[in-house]
Amino acid sequence: MPELPEVETIKRYLEPLLKEKSIKEIAIIIDKHTPPKLEFERLLDAKLTSLTRRGKYLLFNFDNKHTLIIHLRMEGKFFFNEIEAKYRPHIIFIATFGDDRLYFVDTRRFARIELVKTSELISHPALQKLGPDLADDEIDSNKLYEKVKRSGTYIKKLLLDQTFVSGLGNIYVDESLFAAKINPYSKAKNLSIKEFKEIISHAKRILKNATEFGGTTVKTFHVDHHKIGSYQNELKVYQQENKPCPVCGFPIKKNYYLGRGTHFCPHCQRIKSLVPTYSLTGLTSGGKSFIMTKISNDFIKYSSDDLVNQLYFDDDFIKNIKTTFNLKEFNKNTLKEIRTKNPPLFLRISRVIREIIELLILKIVSEAKTPLVIEVPVLFNEGLNYLFTTNIGIDVDADTQKNNAKTRELSDVDVAAYNKVNAYLKYRHYLEYHFTSKDFDFSVLKIKA
Ligand SMILES: [Zn+2]
Repeated sequence: MPELPEVETIKRYLEPLLKEKSIKEIAIIIDKHTPPKLEFERLLDAKLTSLTRRGKYLLFNFDNKHTLIIHLRMEGKFFFNEIEAKYRPHIIFIATFGDDRLYFVDTRRFARIELVKTSELISHPALQKLGPDLADDEIDSNKLYEKVKRSGTYIKKLLLDQTFVSGLGNIYVDESLFAAKINPYSKAKNLSIKEFKEIISHAKRILKNATEFGGTTVKTFHVDHHKIGSYQNELKVYQQENKPCPVCGFPIKKNYYLGRGTHFCPHCQRIKSLVPTYSLTGLTSGGKSFIMTKISNDFIKYSSDDLVNQLYFDDDFIKNIKTTFNLKEFNKNTLKEIRTKNPPLFLRISRVIREIIELLILKIVSEAKTPLVIEVPVLFNEGLNYLFTTNIGIDVDADTQKNNAKTRELSDVDVAAYNKVNAYLKYRHYLEYHFTSKDFDFSVLKIKA
């Protein structure tokens, strides 16, 4: 979907081509989200005085005191004089300016086209509600921050809300939050004013840069086939899933918890919590549970394995899994059977369970009022390090691990299999601390007064 830089690029491209020219002919080809034909014909002989942009809206202002408002939505595109054959079946309207033809095409038919009296722009329902434009120099961050503190939602969702600030969409929100080192799933109200101002200043810089590059070429956007935005080569996280973070090298993560693909670095962009939050990770039978029992009860303590086990007592969860996967029965034992009988199904169910647990931990750390420690054995496998302010690893040598495993009736084969799937050793150097269960330094768990 075009965002501020793309719409601004279109504006800058089209304005000099069309300005001071009059419309000689206008034809609606596909009548979808367009003004009625008779109304549209008011533009005949009208001269374009300016082309402006408000948020993601393009405003064609004419000398007959009318303004044509176009919101491109998903796939709206303009072609000037030449049009690619494949777009011909999707022409919404053709306007002839002097000797030139402007085609508006929309393959998805989501674009909105409206003709209003220029004097009515001020009271236009959608334009009126738009928040401050991030391309404007004067943005009152202090005033915006008052809204941030009252907000109950995630920072990414707030930044996408065009009534809060206008111009940002999925690409540039992800890029701006990466630059500011803020996780998109942080609760907006947990951010300090300094952090919020940082986001806004990065967003302004990135939008400005992207506009200079002519926007980002996404398959859904181009002004015409001659002009292609090149900001895509500058993207740091957007559409970079599993590629190394340009700052720290940790694989970029993508998930869909806000209905849109969200990209971030789980190492550089941590969830902003109000209190310190710690994870305890490491290989199986390494002594994590032992350390957990020794941690002061001033901390709230969870184990991700316990959180999973609790799910099996949740009727809604069981019902959901049964409906989603069309199963007659579902419990811990049936899952074990599925593991051997139908591995692909097992993987799909496991993914659902992991996502539920990730969201649950996200909720726990976002709302925590007391410092907490959560034991997460496979922290790195799913890039869950972003959930915690500090990640601590428990190292173990092979002999100690084997001995510990015996007390839990795990065979050497079991231990080897668990070690093989755990990404701990691969990413251990990303931890803030690592200890063995014997030399664990409890003073690294700081409780803020
Ligand atoms: Zn990083």
